[in-house]
Amino acid sequence: MARVEFRNVRKQFTDEKKGTFTAVAGSDFVINDKEFVVFVGPSGCGKTTSLRMIAGLERHSSGDILIGDRIVNDLHPKDRDIAMVFQDYALYPHMTIRENLSFGLKNLKKPKAYIEQKVNEAAAILGLEEMLERKPRELSGGQRQRVAVGRAIVRDPQVFLFDEPLSNLDAKLRVQMRVELGELHKRLGATIVYVTHDQVEAMTLGQRIVVMNKGVIQQIASPTELYANPQNMFVAGFIGSPAMNFMDATVAGNKVHVAGAEFTLSDKMAKWLSGYEGKSVVLGIRPEHLFGDDYAPGISGEHQMQADIQVVEHLGSENLLYFHVGSRMVTAKVHPETKAYSGLRKTMYLQFDKVHFFDPQTEQRIE
Ligand code: ATP
Repeated sequence: MARVEFRNVRKQFTDEKKGTFTAVAGSDFVINDKEFVVFVGPSGCGKTTSLRMIAGLERHSSGDILIGDRIVNDLHPKDRDIAMVFQDYALYPHMTIRENLSFGLKNLKKPKAYIEQKVNEAAAILGLEEMLERKPRELSGGQRQRVAVGRAIVRDPQVFLFDEPLSNLDAKLRVQMRVELGELHKRLGATIVYVTHDQVEAMTLGQRIVVMNKGVIQQIASPTELYANPQNMFVAGFIGSPAMNFMDATVAGNKVHVAGAEFTLSDKMAKWLSGYEGKSVVLGIRPEHLFGDDYAPGISGEHQMQADIQVVEHLGSENLLYFHVGSRMVTAKVHPETKAYSGLRKTMYLQFDKVHFFDPQTEQRIE
């Protein structure tokens, strides 16, 4: 069973200038056998450190790390039965692709016939058969990336670890490789732990996503769950593009007031907000849940506000409208036929059943 588990795992770095710094603050999670789990979060949030601790390249400060049913705290990286694919591919430039793919197995003193079989299998899976006698410099970025994955595949590891493997590729190739990696996971049936700062990559690849910020896990959930039910403002703002809008609101009975507008709460919402009578809350609504009054199929218009449109961005398949609500800038992602130009005063409809409320102090979702 190739599951990976963290039990209250912490990592502190001691730096002469900064002193003691907590990079990972007591993580708990279980990655199931054959699961594709993505760690995502802004730069410096501790995702690479988490991956390196699974690999054994970084020693954790406290807690337990399990791979399969074994506690691997003191196990050397080479005995953990994992394979890691790095951002920079780490190929040997003077070796052919075949030699690059064989290298790890040769070091493990595997028989020649076995190595040849493994290399040929990996080359077939990744479409590298024609390139085995070439050197890395004779390959495109995407092909090199495949060789790096191939080096992991030949080892038949229990767990694959990917550290931002697509970040050196151009946008088009990145999308293509993303699809290939998803297919590879299905084909290999392997446990994969994947680190990225790109939320789109996380949403498309991960069966579950671990969202991290400042060394702390914010939420672990499937992509749809993260999108529909973010636990706090950080997750709400990080997952989804453009990001969720936040508006300052005040609760009054079964209504909330937002910068001159008044919205009636559903019974469910009124219940959530029953402890907030007369208090401030943050209303969160995604750009795709705001509509212009002239193009709002299926939206009643019961919840509406006046917007002074400041900027319009035409993206072809949709338009982004920007306007202020109180001191906060709000984005609406609307159908391209929605009438909009800078300076227009427009009635915007909110799809109110998609709205979330957050506590302004704790930033946790109120429910
Ligand atoms: P990025 O996306 O930029 O790679 P990350 O989320 O992967 O970010 P980590 O590389 O895990 O972040 O780093 C987490 C924090 O720990 C950062 O603030 C980093 O500066 C710090 N850190 C990482 N390695 C060391 C080290 N060897 N010594 C001191 N601090 C470190």
